Amino acid sequence: MVLLREYFRVDVNKEERDITQRELLEKLDGAFGVVAMLGNKFDRGFISKLKTVRVISDFAVGYNNVDVKAATEKGIVVTNTPGVLTDATADMAFGLLLAAARRIAEGDRLVRAGEFKGWTPLMMLGHEVSGKTIGIIGAGRIGTGVATRAKGFGMKIVYYSRRENPDLDSLGASLVTLEELLRESDFVSLNVPLNSETRGMIGRREIGLMKKSCILINTARGEVIDERALISALKKTKIAGAGLDVYVDEPKVNREFFRLDNVVLAPHLGSATLETRARMSELSALNAIAVLKGERPPAIVNPEVLEKSEV
Ligand code: NAP
Repeated sequence: MVLLREYFRVDVNKEERDITQRELLEKLDGAFGVVAMLGNKFDRGFISKLKTVRVISDFAVGYNNVDVKAATEKGIVVTNTPGVLTDATADMAFGLLLAAARRIAEGDRLVRAGEFKGWTPLMMLGHEVSGKTIGIIGAGRIGTGVATRAKGFGMKIVYYSRRENPDLDSLGASLVTLEELLRESDFVSLNVPLNSETRGMIGRREIGLMKKSCILINTARGEVIDERALISALKKTKIAGAGLDVYVDEPKVNREFFRLDNVVLAPHLGSATLETRARMSELSALNAIAVLKGERPPAIVNPEVLEKSEV
């Protein structure tokens, strides 16, 4: 904000909630740029109403809240914050993995309820992590970060992505088909962006291929999983558990999850560290400033808009 104020008059939403689409549209009347949060939906209809906005600086790496095609057609630059949140999100994925495997959240609930009656050898047995196989779906920055952490735990790493990733290969990971990954893995971590190919990528069929002892971790986007299929599988213990940071209808969370002890639920905390938030703020500000100064921003999603305007 300090950076932005050096150049622009800045209107800040100081409330701990996303402003409504109607409020946002009013605020953007006459504005040249917007630093957008995930709850702000820039769909085609909304974008068509923007008159003066030249840059949507998304405060996230996953820009699925913006219809990039519609923005591009309107000559609006879309930017995001890749890289600066990789470690924090990979930490979160691994945190959820450990919490689900070792029943940490469930154990916390038990202690708080005064139900801890003393150590016994068969109490709350979980799943060993070290030496197991992890399957990473989406081998980009965060997927590679998850693999780096998995290597530290002596895990075998397999991954599924659209192309080979030499960084993952150098960690000893192998590229496999999606089906092989689902059949072989003890843990599956979702690290793809949400797009038309990945929406519903993990449904009933895919969950059916997983081991009964498998734990599914999602720090990507809720819509990558068919939540109904996941809830049904967790209820019937067709898989052992899940660790979720993201949901289909955020901030609403399907209440069926609340009744299940074999799922760990986090409120979209992937990038929520002080250090990462500072880096995201700086990058999103630098992106907006660059576009409005007529320069190339550090992280651009639709460079074709700039190329068109250079012709
Ligand atoms: P990234 O570096 O772009 O990695 C995404 C990877 O997924 C790329 O390797 C990409 O392959 C692959 N991919 C894309 N579509 C695919 C498909 N249909 N099938 C298989 N692989 C596919 O992105 P990132 O920085 O790692 O971030 C990944 C996602 O994490 C973000 O988009 C965001 O939704 C989510 N995220 C969540 C949080 C949180 O708070 N929970 C925080 C940060 C990010 P190509 O190279 O072929 O495109």
